[in-house]
Amino acid sequence: MAIKLYNKTRCPDKILRAIVTAAGQRIGCDTNIVVKVTQGQCLGGSGRALHGFPYLWHLTRKRQKDSARDRVVSTRGGWIELVLPGTHPAWDVLLQAEKWYELCLHEWGHVKDFQTDFMPGREWSRRGESGRRPNWEDRPEEKRACMYAARGQERARSKTADEAILALASWLEEKQKRGA
Ligand SMILES: [Zn+2]
Repeated sequence: MAIKLYNKTRCPDKILRAIVTAAGQRIGCDTNIVVKVTQGQCLGGSGRALHGFPYLWHLTRKRQKDSARDRVVSTRGGWIELVLPGTHPAWDVLLQAEKWYELCLHEWGHVKDFQTDFMPGREWSRRGESGRRPNWEDRPEEKRACMYAARGQERARSKTADEAILALASWLEEKQKRGA
């Protein structure tokens, strides 16, 4: 099943879909999830993976609000929000595109967690007595996402993924030239 892409950027759907899907497949996820992509201004872009509503993340259907209409979108294991990097004359577009693919791998790492049936003993960060969550690097779910991403990186990348990363780099380059 394909990702359900909500593309809020000017980057063609085809490029985003190819990169995000290739990353999801590398991690071994069911790619039938909602992915929203917006345009950012930073060098690296960013992302987060959500499991929808607490206690409901294991359900296969969730309600996706899209403009005025309420649509029910069937997903498996939450959704991902990604932010595309911005452009600047000094930034290396190929490196930016590579890093964005790595970011996708990481977010899919979280989805892998959500899609794996709940196992007793699987640790999640909680708010401590102070009411604050532990630092990013101490959260068990982040450690797992990083581990999945690292494993995904180790495996040889598909030609489709390579081409899509290059296509993103070219798109960023064009944008950079236009000074956008
Ligand atoms: Zn993370």
